[in-house]
Amino acid sequence: MAKAVVLGGGISGLSSAYYALQEGTSSKFAKVVLLEASNRFGGWLHSTKFEDGAVFDYGPRSFRPTYVGSGLNTVELALKLGLRDDIIAVDKRDPSNVRYVYKDKKVHQMPGTILDAIRVVPPLKRRLIWTAYQDTFAAKATEDESVHSFCTRRYGKEIADIMGDAMVHPSITGPMVSMSKPILHYITNWTMWSLKEGCQQLSDTLVKHLTSPQMSAELQLNNKCTKLTFKDGAAVVTSDKGEITTDHVFSSIYARDLAQILPEEHSELAQELKAIPAVSVIVVNLEYPVESPMKGFGHLLPSIEDGPVLGVVYNSCVFPQQDRIQQKGKSSRFTVMLGGAWYDELLERMGGSLNPNGFALFGMKVIAEHLKITEKPSKVDVIIQNDCIPQYFVGHNERVERIFKYIKDNNLPLSLVGSSYKGVSVNDCIYNAKLRVEKFTGPSPYVSPDISKEHFAF
Ligand SMILES: Cc1cc2nc3c(=O)[nH]c(=O)nc-3n(C[C@H](O)[C@H](O)[C@H](O)COP(=O)(O)OP(=O)(O)OC[C@H]3O[C@@H](n4cnc5c(N)ncnc54)[C@H](O)[C@@H]3O)c2cc1C
Repeated sequence: MAKAVVLGGGISGLSSAYYALQEGTSSKFAKVVLLEASNRFGGWLHSTKFEDGAVFDYGPRSFRPTYVGSGLNTVELALKLGLRDDIIAVDKRDPSNVRYVYKDKKVHQMPGTILDAIRVVPPLKRRLIWTAYQDTFAAKATEDESVHSFCTRRYGKEIADIMGDAMVHPSITGPMVSMSKPILHYITNWTMWSLKEGCQQLSDTLVKHLTSPQMSAELQLNNKCTKLTFKDGAAVVTSDKGEITTDHVFSSIYARDLAQILPEEHSELAQELKAIPAVSVIVVNLEYPVESPMKGFGHLLPSIEDGPVLGVVYNSCVFPQQDRIQQKGKSSRFTVMLGGAWYDELLERMGGSLNPNGFALFGMKVIAEHLKITEKPSKVDVIIQNDCIPQYFVGHNERVERIFKYIKDNNLPLSLVGSSYKGVSVNDCIYNAKLRVEKFTGPSPYVSPDISKEHFAF
């Protein structure tokens, strides 16, 4: 049976290792070694639980259970990993589903009802029904296009500038794959979900399973792959700690990082990989000793309002289970996301300094201006996430096809997983890892959810 090396211990790499070693497939891998460059697993899945019970997430903070393949698959994985009792889900009737947009120095609810369609709802200046009318006559796109251009074509410039732009501002998109399973019934009323200890609980649990005697994966921290070469149908992985010759490599590292470690003879592949850019995001987590004045998921900002401020997430409204224990008094947690495509502008505004205190003050100012909370925060945490969200510009899909074709045509024992290629959401990362691995192992066994006990923590 074949041996595999996985590059990167984020959610894509851990999922690849998990599916490669799963019992019940027709030909699972005999051995999997995973190399992680840093001193922790999880990649962007990174959470802290404070002594008073409050949870801060520094990367993803929720998963969408969407009724399509990738969303269902993550729920299925969590159930397989025994995380059922740790799932915290948001019911579709919960007020925390309401989304807002910040425009003209005010927070406005995103239009969501039929009534909203026939009246003028701020911040828009004309009725949505006109945009629906316009949509009927919209020209059809012939190739992939930017979200702004899609919104302009379908809904007009005003919607594109405010709604479309606010939605794409953090640039988190993903593919849609239809699938129907009993899990669908299980999650009928969910709109999003997380885990009691934060999203990192998913990667932590994967690590526990992977290192259990059943799976026996070899997971290595502080071991960066520095060179990847191919010889006689095998792959040779050179790392800080030596050399491994293996049957197959699953690379989950950012495309540009992979380009750096490929040999000169595959420079054509490296050039394509290098052309996939990513943006950096500054995450400012804040806890205030007051109740949130807003009920909802959070608000986004169109770039015309304030480029470097991407949006604010009202974490306590969405997952109050992750608030500090009530005996410590009222509290509300918020995340201010800064940077993205406006990272350089942000840096310029900060006088070129990456000082976390400066970003903390910036985040507090945003909360004071947008939500009118002027109290001193009880907790502040800032993290700078470099090149964390790959950007899928027009032509990305064709580029990915060329990259995959190059690997196939050259018979390289290499599979590409991770957020650089076919979706950046956690759901997409896990699902794409599964699809890639199943090309070798055959389909993984399906777990039927136990729907007799309904005790999810809504
Ligand atoms: C701030 C933020 C908020 C987000 N919010 C959401 C959300 O709410 N919901 C959602 O679904 N998604 C969200 N996402 C997106 C999602 O979290 C990421 O796309 C996903 O976690 C990427 O996982 P990955 O395993 O592909 O990559 P990574 O997490 O980047 O993992 C790659 C790993 O490879 C390691 N590595 C790099 N080079 C080497 C090397 N040479 N050798 C060995 N190891 C190496 C890195 O240290 C890293 O641990 C968010 C992302 C960010 C940054």
